[in-house]
Amino acid sequence: MSGQEAKNKFYQVSQIRWLTEDTFSLKMTGQKLHFKAGQHVLLSLPGTSQSREYSLYNGENQPEPEVLVRKIENGIFSGYLSTLSEGDLVEINGPMGAFSIDESKTDTHHFVFIASGTGIAPFRSIVQTYPHLNYQVIHGIRYGHEAYDKQAFHPEKYLDCTSRDNTGKFQGRLTGHLAKTSFAPNTEFYICGNSNMIFDSLDILKEKGFSREQIHCEVYF
Ligand SMILES: Cc1cc2nc3c(=O)[nH]c(=O)nc-3n(C[C@H](O)[C@H](O)[C@H](O)COP(=O)(O)OP(=O)(O)OC[C@H]3O[C@@H](n4cnc5c(N)ncnc54)[C@H](O)[C@@H]3O)c2cc1C
Repeated sequence: MSGQEAKNKFYQVSQIRWLTEDTFSLKMTGQKLHFKAGQHVLLSLPGTSQSREYSLYNGENQPEPEVLVRKIENGIFSGYLSTLSEGDLVEINGPMGAFSIDESKTDTHHFVFIASGTGIAPFRSIVQTYPHLNYQVIHGIRYGHEAYDKQAFHPEKYLDCTSRDNTGKFQGRLTGHLAKTSFAPNTEFYICGNSNMIFDSLDILKEKGFSREQIHCEVYF
């Protein structure tokens, strides 16, 4: 690999926004990153041997790559990321992954985006990239203030399910809402977040008669 190519992978932190006590977004400036909304990158930090995957949080047309990170208690890499300052260097590998929407279906299908926690990240990217999409977001969070950047979604198309307070449009786990809700047959489901939520959602949707081909999953942990 030439020195120029290697250099091009490095980005400088341009903005850090703390959205809650443990979750922040990180914008980076550098060479334009061409990606498909829904994809993720592998982040590394100079001076550490660690790297982790993060979904891109920005739309395809926005110039600076952005990620949404939850600082995990005792988490190695999210801990490192949480100490970054503007101007620090971050290495981006990618984009990678196939968690993107099928553009041939945007005019004919309904899209349901199901997320737990920071699993909302790829859906913000998709909705910013395809503003006219016929979509519904179902976001499972613990508390209402964890509805990160919910203004990115149309208020009638965003439903927060809060499991530990009563501020959400639905009170309880998102799977409780999913089980009670009907969806049109021409719906494409995208599910992102922790594996327990994904497996439970898959069971509910299969029970409702949807085929596996209509259900797309991105497992964070
Ligand atoms: C394709 C993909 C995309 C991802 N995108 C994102 C993203 O956009 N934002 C994001 O915050 N994370 C994302 N992750 C998770 C991320 O890669 C790291 O695993 C996470 O930041 C924890 O890393 P760590 O080094 O701090 O924790 P580690 O020291 O590696 O500890 C890992 C432990 O943390 C727990 N854990 C991991 N992620 C979470 C989480 N989000 N919430 C609660 N517990 C968790 C797991 O139980 C695991 O046992 C993604 C993972 C994958 C595979």
